[in-house]
Amino acid sequence: KVRVRFAPSPTGPLHIGGVRTALFNYLFAKKHDGDFLLRIEDTDQNRYVEGAEAYIIEALNWLNIPYDEGPGKEADCGPYRQSERKELYRQYADALIESGNAYYAFDTAEELDAHRKDHEEKGKTFIYNWHNRLKLKNSLVFSAEETQQKIANREEYVIRFKSPEEETLHLNDIIRGEMQVETNILDDKVLFKSDGMPTYHLANIVDDHLMKITHVIRGEEWLPSLALHVLLYRAFGWNAPQFAHLPLILKPTGNGKLSKRDGDKMGFPVFPLEWKTAEGDLFSGYREDGYLPEAVVNMLAFLGWNPGTEQEIFSLEELISAFELERVHKAGAKFDPEKTKWFQHQYLQKVDDDTLASKFSKYLEKKEVSTALNLTLVVSLLKERATFVSDLWEQGSFFFEAPITYEAKAAEKAFKAETPEFLQKVVSILNTSEDFSAENLSEKVKGWITSENIGFGKVMMPLRLALVGEMKGPEVFDILSILGKKESVSRIEKAID
Ligand code: GLU
Repeated sequence: KVRVRFAPSPTGPLHIGGVRTALFNYLFAKKHDGDFLLRIEDTDQNRYVEGAEAYIIEALNWLNIPYDEGPGKEADCGPYRQSERKELYRQYADALIESGNAYYAFDTAEELDAHRKDHEEKGKTFIYNWHNRLKLKNSLVFSAEETQQKIANREEYVIRFKSPEEETLHLNDIIRGEMQVETNILDDKVLFKSDGMPTYHLANIVDDHLMKITHVIRGEEWLPSLALHVLLYRAFGWNAPQFAHLPLILKPTGNGKLSKRDGDKMGFPVFPLEWKTAEGDLFSGYREDGYLPEAVVNMLAFLGWNPGTEQEIFSLEELISAFELERVHKAGAKFDPEKTKWFQHQYLQKVDDDTLASKFSKYLEKKEVSTALNLTLVVSLLKERATFVSDLWEQGSFFFEAPITYEAKAAEKAFKAETPEFLQKVVSILNTSEDFSAENLSEKVKGWITSENIGFGKVMMPLRLALVGEMKGPEVFDILSILGKKESVSRIEKAID
């Protein structure tokens, strides 16, 4: 059975890259009737951020990509927070020492820095591995007895992986195919830290094994760790899962990796609490900005994947059935804020008018605008030009607030000497119309204009200005019909007053 996991470190709000990873894992799991796990990788206590886990969970729920197992959804493989699995990892580090695949190392940070500097000065990179250690000046390679003695003396140590020498590894990635890595260039990475906590590498492999993960789908930034991970599986004698490393997400210009500093929506707060940047500014995320989760999901799905057809709008179900890891690109994916808006516009059009009206009603309530108008009708007229619910207000605030002034340029063009006479006639047509439907009003007013041979602009332009205050908005007769007789007449009379 397919089992995949999203394994974020709770170090802050999720970024685009993180949610994209979560989504691709979700799609892959659901496509294969598998399980999607959430594992919180919180072994690095220095980077732990309070509230980040709740934030991640809320983000996944908001996007409608909930996990099957994870914190709060305990199953056989829990607990799902690494901090709660602490006791477990040491025995695995010990087992690797036992089997000769890991060793104790006593170097201090200063010593390591000195080695690095030393190498730099000679124009070389410092690779810390078993082989090189023996050649270092002041080599800290000790016999088994010395090592035991040091541990007994409570000297600080870490446990490092012992990379094999002179071996060409053939690594496989579903997206990238086969890659070769020479083990001689590998550092002997720390598996277990002096603070008694495992590093990411050890905990990640142990947990993926114990949680029966079949496919590891994660960002390209983890590709350099793949060799070590594969070697760790081998050292433990475990079958490795399959790997798929998702492409980087690039700046809109395509010029470099998207970073938090690119601002707009890299932080992805869907968390109701205030979430501040390091500078103390409030993040605003997709949810706060009024994006629909379906639009965000659709946008994310196209960051590095496409279905190979022209179709761009995909429901979650459609994504699940179309998604294939083999179709994920190797090349970086450009993040395009405009395209994101385009998706949002498409999805807003799909929201039925009643639902949109009730969203809009909440928006108006917040603005303390009260209205007796039929909002379903209002939104049906406005939504074509709207991307966000807030645009409905931008486009249609005149429905709720009579214009106080008239846009100067338009007024100069529209209000002529004969205008009061024309608009007075419109008022009398409105006053005598029982049927206040747009069709009926249109027929009557247009009939009169035609019969008098006046020219539409001379009536329709000032009429629109009287109702809206500017030359914008939907059909004038729709506006009249929605505003109703009393309000329409009052606005027109005010304009010619
Ligand atoms: N904790 C790692 C992260 O924050 C997980 C990487 C992986 O999926 O192996 O991205």
